[in-house]
Parts: sequence; structure tokens; C-alpha cells
Amino acid sequence: MPASVNRERLLKTIDDYARIGATDSGGVTRLALSEDDGRARERFAGDVTGAGLELSADDFGNMVARREGSEVLAPIQIGSHLDTVRRGGRFDGALGVLGGLEVIRAFNDAGITTRHPVDLINWTNEEGVRFEPAMMGSGVACGVFDREWACDRTDLDGVRLGDELRRIGFQGERNNRPPTGAAYLELHIEQGPVLDDADIPVGIVEGIVGITWINVRILGQADHAGPSPMALRRDALAAAAEIILVVEHLASESGPPVVGTVGRFDLEPNIINTIPSQVEMSVDFRHRDAEGLKRLVDRLIESADEIETRRGVDIQLERFWTSPPTAFDARIVDAVALAADAVGAQSRRLWSGAGHDAKYAAEMTPTGMIFVRSRGGLSHCEQEFSESDDIVAGVATLLQTVFALDASLDSIVT
Ligand SMILES: [Zn+2]
Repeated sequence: MPASVNRERLLKTIDDYARIGATDSGGVTRLALSEDDGRARERFAGDVTGAGLELSADDFGNMVARREGSEVLAPIQIGSHLDTVRRGGRFDGALGVLGGLEVIRAFNDAGITTRHPVDLINWTNEEGVRFEPAMMGSGVACGVFDREWACDRTDLDGVRLGDELRRIGFQGERNNRPPTGAAYLELHIEQGPVLDDADIPVGIVEGIVGITWINVRILGQADHAGPSPMALRRDALAAAAEIILVVEHLASESGPPVVGTVGRFDLEPNIINTIPSQVEMSVDFRHRDAEGLKRLVDRLIESADEIETRRGVDIQLERFWTSPPTAFDARIVDAVALAADAVGAQSRRLWSGAGHDAKYAAEMTPTGMIFVRSRGGLSHCEQEFSESDDIVAGVATLLQTVFALDASLDSIVT
């Protein structure tokens, strides 16, 4: 391929953005629609217009910068987010946006005009830290969230999202919403330990796992810990302990990427010499297919029934929230894999255990993701780190993917 990544420029750009909202311990706090998010957006606006792109903002503040193509075709989109969590890292989100910027600059350097327009997107409020829920900008653009509802979300100080959007000057027009693309690509740090453990720099993401959340309530009988023989107890906590191990066992025996977690736990009366009467806890299951997710829940219910009968407690399970799995488009995933090979980046396929804007983008556009190894799998913390060589390998893979898809896609004519 005639274009190539300019390593120094790419790393310097990432450094420059990491100064916006920099923390004293090497991290970044750039909450959605804060002053610092505004400053990062201003800088991005300057960078993309400086690279010759046409910039617009939609009615939810999603920024779309277009590099025109030579044919009338749907765009190839590159997107991610510039907002961060509180005391987060410098690469989560920014890598995808700034890696995309480097792709544009590399095309410019090489004098390449693509057939498709290339759109670079900075999605509003991916993190969902200041304003819940997460992945809001991509969700609004793809019709998963209603815009008015999203604008009415407030932060802890009662400030409305919609007011902040106007205040920082990025409220645009509805007709600037990102259109259905020929392809959507997102480069992101893995935020998990799989690549690091395998000593592989680049991940070919096949999809985003589905998530289901269950609330478990166990009712036993409180009683004096001294006079109550073991066989006559109805101990809610002992029953909960069994359920926690069932969750762990079900996930472990399914193998990656299936995971199961009990993360929230409340115990009554929580007194040293009283048998526990009540437990409330959460279960989080993640699986690559909806049927598999349902099987996990069914098997948990079976086990709970058995534990309930044997222990004489009452167990209620409520599956109260589910996010279905998203399998990425096989043509795009294959193109990413070929691109990694073409640029000599060692890679492996994997599923994402966390949500990304790509999940909602995939509702509209054939989508794929590229992961870059995270040291120790750490993210959403100041210790988040990826090696420069891995960053460059990830961006080179992105560049090659865009170049190859531009040549091969027989896309929808706009
Ligand atoms: Zn992210």
C-alpha cells in the first residue's frame, strides 16, 4: 500500500490530546461535555479542518469530519470517543479517533483519493460516567436512544446534558447525523488481558458479547447462632455462597468469552452471632450468543431450585436487563484480519467483553473493530498503558483495512 503511518506524528498527537484534562498521575479526566471535553473537541476541529476535512456536528454533538472520495458512495466510517472516565487512561477512546486522524493524514501525505468518502467520527458521551447510560451519542445516531430523552439526562449536580452540549458549542443539526456507511471501523485498546496474556499486539474483534443482569433475593430465617443445630438452619448466606459458585462454574465450563460475576451483595442482618436471614445480590453473565446467554440463566434457575428445596430457603431470580450480543460483519472482520497480516502485525481473533460505540454503529452499518493490547488488561484507570509499537501496529492495521475495503466494497450508492 502506498500510504504509511507516521509514527512520530501519531505518538505526538496522542501525547498532545492526553494533556487536555491530564491528571497528576499520568491519567486523563475528560468527562463528556465538560470544559476539557470542549477543549479536546476544539483541538480536534482544528486538526481535521487542517487536514482538509469538512467538519459538521449533529444534533447530539457527534462530530463528523469528511474526506471526500472520488465516487458517489456511502462513506467508510472511522469512529470512537474523546471523552474519558474520571482518572482514566490516555488511549481509551482517543486511540480510535486519533488513529483515524493519522489514517487521513497518511492518505493526504501519499496523495491518495479513495473511492468512498472517509468519515472520522467523535461520538458524544461514550463513557456514560457523568451522564448515564454509556454509548449515548452512537445510540442516539442509530436510533437506540431518543434524542430528547438523552438531552434530559442530568449529572450529579443536576445539570442537563442538552444544556452542556449547547454551552460548549457543539450542538449541531439533525441532518448531520452520521449516515449508513459502507463500513464502520473502530480501533480501541482491548481493556482486557487476552492479548497481553497471549503476547499478541493486535486483536481482530468478531463481536461484542451479550450481557444479562439478574437480581437474586434469598430469604432464610434469622436465628441465634448458638442453639440452632446445623441441620435445622435456613441460612440465606450459605445458600448464596452455593449460588455464587454455580455462577462461577457455569461460566468457567463454557470457556471464553463467557464470564459470570456476582458483583453486588447485601446481607441481613450481618451480625456475628445471628444466622443470616436475607441476601440480595447481582449476577452478570456475558456470552457471544443470545441462546447461550439464555441457557446460562436457565441452568442457574435449575440450580437455585435445587438449593432452595434442599436448604428450605426461598430464592427469587429476576432477569431485569439484557443487552443482546452483536456479531460483527464477517466481510469486515475478514478484511481486518487480512490487513493485520498485510502490515505484518501479529494478531488473533477475539470477542469484546465490554461495550463500544461499534455496537450501535453495527445497527446501521457493516462493522468491525481492531483491538490493541493493553498492558495487564488494565483500563478505566491511570495505569492503563499500551506500547508505542502496538499502537502503531493497530493504526497501520486500520489504515490498511480502510485502503483495502475502499478498493473491494461494492457499496450502497448514496
Ligand atoms: Zn472506550
